[in-house]
Amino acid sequence: MYHQPVLKNRRTLLERAEKFISDIYFTDCNLRGRLFGDTHPLESITAFLSEKRIPYSEAIQQNFQPCNVGDAFGPTWWTCWFKVVLKIPEAWREKEVHLRWESDGEGMVWRDHQPVQGLTKEGEKTSYILTECLKDSEPHGITLYVELACNGLFGAGQGSMIAAPDPKRKFTLQKAELVVFNQDVSELLTDFEMLVDIVKLLGEGEQRGFQALFTANEMVNLCDPANPSSFAAARSLAQKFFAQKNGESQHVVHAMGHCHIDSAWLWPYEETIRKCARSWVTVIRLMEKNPEFVFTCSQAQQFQWVKSWYPGLFSEIKRFVQKGRFIPVGGTWVEMDGNLPSGESMVRHFLHGQNFFKDEFGLYCKEFWLPDTFGYSAQLPQIMKGSGISRFLTQKLSWNLVNTFPHNTFFWEGIDGTPVLTHFPPGNSYGMMGKVEDLINTVKNNKDKGRANHSAALFGFGDGGGGPTQLMLDRLQRVRDTDCLPKVQMSSPDVLFSQLESDSSLLCTWVGELFLELHNGTYTTQAKIKLGNRQCEVLLHDVEVASCLALCKRDSFKYPACKLQELWRLLLLNQFHDVIPGSCIEMVVEDALQYYDEIRTTGSRLLLVACESLGSFPGKGVGSSTAVLNTLPWERTEVISLPGEGTKTRLALVRVPSVGVAQVTEMAEPTVSVTMMVDGTIMMENGLLKATIDQTGRLMSLLLVQTNRETISQGGFGNQFSLFDDVPLYWDAWDVMDYHLQTRKPVIELVEPAKVVRSGGVQGSVSFSLRISGNSTIRQEIILDACCPYIKFNTEVDWEEAHKFLKVEFPVQVRSPNATYEIQFGHLQRPTHRNTSWDWARFEVWGHKWADLSEHGFGVALLNDSKYGYSVHENIMTLSLLRAPKAPDANADMGCHNFTYALMPHTGPFQEASVIQYAYNLNFPLRVYHGAISEPLSAFSVNSPAVILETIKQAERRENALVLRLHESHGSSVTATLSTSLLVKEAWHCDLLERPDPSTPVSKTSAGISLTFKPFQIRSLLLIIE
Ligand SMILES: [Zn+2]
Repeated sequence: MYHQPVLKNRRTLLERAEKFISDIYFTDCNLRGRLFGDTHPLESITAFLSEKRIPYSEAIQQNFQPCNVGDAFGPTWWTCWFKVVLKIPEAWREKEVHLRWESDGEGMVWRDHQPVQGLTKEGEKTSYILTECLKDSEPHGITLYVELACNGLFGAGQGSMIAAPDPKRKFTLQKAELVVFNQDVSELLTDFEMLVDIVKLLGEGEQRGFQALFTANEMVNLCDPANPSSFAAARSLAQKFFAQKNGESQHVVHAMGHCHIDSAWLWPYEETIRKCARSWVTVIRLMEKNPEFVFTCSQAQQFQWVKSWYPGLFSEIKRFVQKGRFIPVGGTWVEMDGNLPSGESMVRHFLHGQNFFKDEFGLYCKEFWLPDTFGYSAQLPQIMKGSGISRFLTQKLSWNLVNTFPHNTFFWEGIDGTPVLTHFPPGNSYGMMGKVEDLINTVKNNKDKGRANHSAALFGFGDGGGGPTQLMLDRLQRVRDTDCLPKVQMSSPDVLFSQLESDSSLLCTWVGELFLELHNGTYTTQAKIKLGNRQCEVLLHDVEVASCLALCKRDSFKYPACKLQELWRLLLLNQFHDVIPGSCIEMVVEDALQYYDEIRTTGSRLLLVACESLGSFPGKGVGSSTAVLNTLPWERTEVISLPGEGTKTRLALVRVPSVGVAQVTEMAEPTVSVTMMVDGTIMMENGLLKATIDQTGRLMSLLLVQTNRETISQGGFGNQFSLFDDVPLYWDAWDVMDYHLQTRKPVIELVEPAKVVRSGGVQGSVSFSLRISGNSTIRQEIILDACCPYIKFNTEVDWEEAHKFLKVEFPVQVRSPNATYEIQFGHLQRPTHRNTSWDWARFEVWGHKWADLSEHGFGVALLNDSKYGYSVHENIMTLSLLRAPKAPDANADMGCHNFTYALMPHTGPFQEASVIQYAYNLNFPLRVYHGAISEPLSAFSVNSPAVILETIKQAERRENALVLRLHESHGSSVTATLSTSLLVKEAWHCDLLERPDPSTPVSKTSAGISLTFKPFQIRSLLLIIE
């Protein structure tokens, strides 16, 4: 029987229980004050400071100097190694003894040359368990090392989390001592905490909350903190409460340990390697103590890092992977950005990721796992499916600033119609704490009540790593089946999704992209990273194509598979969801740009080697033996730059066959004329387009010559630069807010008026420059090439701004409710109006190489070579060029930028006007090299303009096989024939992991391989070559 409370006063009873476990109030007499018993100082502590992150074996050789608790170490990003000598007092027999270590840096304990425990105060890990029950036979004297990173869980932001790091911060060692840990007090504290939270969260409307209240109150009555023998009675009351069960219909929470580690963000890549080790070794310790604990872990790259740097820990992880408790998820190389990587890059994330998991752990992941990126391409479902994955977990759309996404569990259908079962944990977090609040939120927020009775709850400190704690496990263990709370089971993604699949008849379907209504500045921030990404995607494509041609042409050629794997992995790493979006600190930007330089240097060398294997190679300077490589699957006629006399170059118009090489033979074609009029305006014409440019470089008119159709809207100016104030609410590098649109200022101040640079021949060009502000200028060359249906704008900007956004606008004579944007292996439409909140939330959107605005019979495409931010409102097409956020990189985007965009008016639909092909042409330059080709070579061609042969590569680990990837780009059902001049022994359909599919034989005709496509379908072929 409970003791009757004195008054009927819920508040005093609740606060009495709260104070009983408070770590602030009454710790002299409450239960919390008894969590730790006696303490004992360390025998000695000495330290060694290192600017670099050095291995353990090197660190322990160094000269350690005496230091004290209370000392501070630094500066930021250095490492302090501590040698800790301790002796456990004999008198602590049968006690649980911890090394208690508190510091604001991130620590790793090393014992017997192995990492054994991460210690991070921010991650609530301040104890290393020396023994759970001290025996006389155990060693009492122990030497440990603690590797302390001079950075916090979230780096070292100066003043706020996302501010640029403070390079001079010191990190204090606040506590380092031996302490007796009272397990019985710890258990009882957790009981109290859960009961108190149930009282608070169920409120006064639920009788169950009052039952928890009276249970807690009676436990306080029974419990004397000074007398541990009184604890058992209190504990059994709690256990009785927790054991009162639910009915059968209760929601089931699938709890999974998790630790989201950003591969680089507010800290550099190198620190992430240690974050992985600290977090995962702690997981292993918890697994040893808690036999049911399951942990989900993504990103093959992070496993690869731990394998290389911590082989002992990696083999422990492998052991728990085999047991099904340390569960690799995601299937990708890193958790990449969901918007900006190309279609082929997306495929490579799965190819490299899944192959890694298969090689190391003998399994392919069944779930795509991307809880924390800034939107999800509508092409992802098909790419997942092609990589052996039909399930997807994220939660980021809960960050939407405007609209609440209507589902938690649903089928997500991509642009080709592929569905994947998708789950957003309704608790809206990937870093829960196992608290009552998390469980109640999971049930309450579930927008598919009655449709889906199972949800995930991912618990563990995340972003900066850390992972789960014993306390989180203890909390969840208590409420496995407690009346009025959801049922909780330690689970795995496979168990959760299997449950959802088995009962999915009521689930809704969402078609198209998962657009995040936030962080829309990430399409533009850190322009050099974006440029590096695009150029390196193109370069690796070209290296692969050229190497495949060389492989087929010359027996002695060795395909650079290892080098290409290395370069791809650097590119993929930089596509991590805080690197390519530009939401990282300056140190990460420097690393990323260096990786792009490595890809450019090595990639260019590999390309040259492959090209030179394609034909006889006359000695340098012998004759005019210049050859051109076209890696795209259509014939191209373009103006290229050739080496001229001395250091000069000259221009020539050449024709190169599809996926092939040709000797340069210059063509006599209609030429371009450029004329300056008396009023200072300039006319450019190439037989296809006729442009009129004013003195400030603006397009006053752009006519399609054949039909005399005007592109620029009446009274408007194309190529109009405009500058906006760009001050978001908080997330500086991430966000551009709707209100920035109200601050538009046209950039019209002339530095140098438009003048003719090239007046004719195969190319005409005009240059001018404008002042953006006292510190920033634009120089531009407007180029019209012979035979080219677009006008090109080569742009150089000196950019020294703060919180400004530079764009270029084209008001065009087109009326359409939707604009079209290229995405991975396809395109989609978004509105040009602001009817509903779902429409106006997309005031700034992403696209890849082109966007198009068309009405019946006429349209305009805006192409680019390295930009991703677009907007089309009414008839104004805008390309986002540069931003100037100050956090987390205080110098983001400062300096000189070069980029190109182009405007292409066209008759008919953009598909028939070859907008897609021309956008490829703008991005994939014809490669000119010194070599002699006896006759033009064309390795592949496709007879349908709708089908793009995107990728030609050597099959992974099969030297005599090529993989070709094609996709339908128009959004149509077509049959196409792929022709090849190469000798192909066998051909198979295969999936994106290059596994042949014997059930669908390839249909070969005399013309080639016949392929059918549904709209936006991706097809891969495995060709066995002679
Ligand atoms: Zn993240």
